[in-house]
Amino acid sequence: MSNISTLPYRKIVWVNIVFFAVTTLLGLIAAPIYLYHNGISVSEAVLMAVFMITTPLAITMGYHRLFAHMSYKAHPILQFLYLFFGAAAFEQSAYKWASQHRIHHRYADTDRDPYSIQKGFFHAHIGWLIFWRQPADYSNVRDLERNRMIMHQHTYFKFWAVGAGIVLPMLIGFMTGHTLGALLLAVCLRLTLVYHFTFCINSVCHMFGKATYDIYSSARDHWFAAVLTFGEGYHNYHHHFPADYRNGVRWFHWDPTKWLIASLAWVGLAYDLKKISRYKILAARLRAQHQHAEDGLKMHSDTRLEVFRQTLKVQYEKLKKTLADWEQNAKSPVSKFREARDRFQASRKEWELLYSQALRFMAARA
Ligand SMILES: [Zn+2]
Ligand SMILES: [Zn+2]
Repeated sequence: MSNISTLPYRKIVWVNIVFFAVTTLLGLIAAPIYLYHNGISVSEAVLMAVFMITTPLAITMGYHRLFAHMSYKAHPILQFLYLFFGAAAFEQSAYKWASQHRIHHRYADTDRDPYSIQKGFFHAHIGWLIFWRQPADYSNVRDLERNRMIMHQHTYFKFWAVGAGIVLPMLIGFMTGHTLGALLLAVCLRLTLVYHFTFCINSVCHMFGKATYDIYSSARDHWFAAVLTFGEGYHNYHHHFPADYRNGVRWFHWDPTKWLIASLAWVGLAYDLKKISRYKILAARLRAQHQHAEDGLKMHSDTRLEVFRQTLKVQYEKLKKTLADWEQNAKSPVSKFREARDRFQASRKEWELLYSQALRFMAARA
């Protein structure tokens, strides 16, 4: 239950304001001026690209799906790379990030949620970092304390972050004769872009997009946010099934993070990948459709509509039964499995027909 002493409280966080202001001004004003006068060399472009790819990936693959959700296990070398490039993203230590993220999932849309969308788009995007303090409560990340690398990164975070995120790119810039270019592009512009792309998950993905799996959650599936964040945009799915190593669960969903984790598993660097079964995913999807239609139709009192609602309910119950039957036959001989699957698919066709009628009705009355 929510405890008053653990609630975020208002406080201007000057260190974050100054850091964001300096990097943003240098990244969005000084960097274009520099590019206008000097153009961009191959080494600067490569350095910028490497940091634009590795730092957000360390957040999605490492901070988020590994450390916060334990959706798979990873070789220590990988863990080190996640901690190193994650520190370079200047998004706090993995330990703190995971703790706040677990609170976000557990208390989403309440006062305890550090980046609750209930306090508005700006708050969820960046306001929570500059106008609010989050009390440190690490009781939900005790499991991470056994990992010495995570605790080292947490204790000496400033050294990790400055070393990986500023000193390293500038050193490479210095060795290739482009120290200023490295500072403006691979540090300031990169930080500004990666920050706002990542922040979109807390703001855009809690306000815009589709609620495919849970219509009562503010989390939304938004394909464009997925493009900006290496696949994190399928946030409605993710809030419903946070243990899954995938966020974009359909094969065509743009989720390079899941493809990379699967590739690392293939070469033995990642293992124990957690996947929600297709039956559970389908069940959640169909339940969300039924709830959506039910809530939409309930708003209108009409006898004919009442009959339609009942028909919808009966069809939904039938659908659930055929799905459960299909799941039960998952390990049956092929012919039995196919029969069960075909029964479900036939039932789903009937359901889709009724559901689209409900959608048309709701759209007409909207
Ligand atoms: Zn969220
Ligand atoms: Zn999450």
